[in-house]
Amino acid sequence: MKNNIIILGGGQAGIYAAREIRQNDSESNIKILGEENLLPYERPPLSKDFLLDKKNEEDLYFYSDEVLKKENIDFEYVSITKVDFENKKLFTKNDEVYFYDSLLISTGSENKKLSLDNNLINDVYYLRNLEEAKTIKDKVLNKNKITIIGGGFIGLEIASSLSQLQKKVTVIEIGDQLMGRIIPKQIADLVQNIHLEHGNEIILNKQIDKIIKKDDMYEILLNDNSLIETDFLIAGIGSTPSVKLFENTNLKLNNGITTNQFCETSIKDVYAAGDVSNFYHPLYERNIRLESYQHAQNHGICAGKNIAGVKTEYTSIPWMWSDQFNLNLQLTGICDDYDEIIERGNDINNGVIYFFLKNKIIRGACGLGIAGKVGRDIRITSKLTEKNTIVDKQILSDQNLKLNKLIQK
Ligand SMILES: Cc1cc2nc3c(=O)[nH]c(=O)nc-3n(C[C@H](O)[C@H](O)[C@H](O)COP(=O)(O)OP(=O)(O)OC[C@H]3O[C@@H](n4cnc5c(N)ncnc54)[C@H](O)[C@@H]3O)c2cc1C
Repeated sequence: MKNNIIILGGGQAGIYAAREIRQNDSESNIKILGEENLLPYERPPLSKDFLLDKKNEEDLYFYSDEVLKKENIDFEYVSITKVDFENKKLFTKNDEVYFYDSLLISTGSENKKLSLDNNLINDVYYLRNLEEAKTIKDKVLNKNKITIIGGGFIGLEIASSLSQLQKKVTVIEIGDQLMGRIIPKQIADLVQNIHLEHGNEIILNKQIDKIIKKDDMYEILLNDNSLIETDFLIAGIGSTPSVKLFENTNLKLNNGITTNQFCETSIKDVYAAGDVSNFYHPLYERNIRLESYQHAQNHGICAGKNIAGVKTEYTSIPWMWSDQFNLNLQLTGICDDYDEIIERGNDINNGVIYFFLKNKIIRGACGLGIAGKVGRDIRITSKLTEKNTIVDKQILSDQNLKLNKLIQK
């Protein structure tokens, strides 16, 4: 008998899972349920090339309708509002019912929202999806002074793009460095300098006390009593896994849906992948939640294999990047559990990398450089991390010595 496989969430993890299932199982019905009324598309360009008009909507789709038809993957534009795991059913708000034998949850993550007075709720813009990117792109056209609340990756990428569109940009960050503690302060400072060089204002260590709307502009009162005037507000203050739907069920949640190394959740025949999953990583021997392009893809593929009966452990080394102005930042492995940091290089024109070691073994690295300068070394670091290599620190720290020497050992 044919299995009904449902993929809840039509993003990157969902589409890669669907195609992987089809590669291993030509029989089952595969249906993706997505609420966005769009085929799965890439989100990273939304804050970068899409805002800059270097990519348009058609460039963002992973696969065309024809590919899905050819592979017999069904895609329905629908929002699921209730789940019944016991009877293997999903419901829409109009009580349409979807039955599954196996379910993959790939609902991604959603932006945290500022708590604002009612009269301001529609005045602060967020960026998570294509519709929001289109709105921001359209609205900023006739604005000049833009304030971005939150100095994380997405906020800074928007700041970089809008600065390149000749806007006067201010970034307000509550912490004492950009991009949070996961990025070494030295690298955060280099990124900050580039923003300053391009005319962006960066305000650290400040909280917003009040936003006052005045005709077509806003006054932002900070906790040191300083005042910023702005025409347009965008917030990028982090995100949370999209799990509201499962909060009153017996699905185990803990900063996302808890999954093991096979993408299995606490409920039989229910899997989770991508941003929404807090997955067990055998190498790091702990659960991790990632919001990154490469992870969404690889995790979706791994879930697809397991759903199709090809038992596969997820061992992919985390990797993500951010592009701001002409800089490329890359992060590999885990950079929050170390007893030693080693620096390689000190000039972003040649690339700067910080390696994080524990018991002499590389756990992760963070690199920054003019586009193209750190990618190769970060890729090598991912391999070294995967192999638990005990490294020669001299090679790590000396930019004249090639990192791949470490692999050959
Ligand atoms: C602006 C932006 C820039 C980014 N830039 C980078 C970058 O430079 N580098 C990097 O590594 N990563 C980047 N990322 C992160 C990366 O895009 C995500 O990690 C990836 O998209 C996650 O894929 P996913 O499939 O888990 O979730 P998503 O792609 O978010 O897909 C989840 C889908 O599920 C749908 N859904 C949720 N609930 C329901 C429901 N109840 N019913 C039906 N559908 C539902 C959602 O609407 C969404 O379409 C960026 C993300 C954003 C938003």
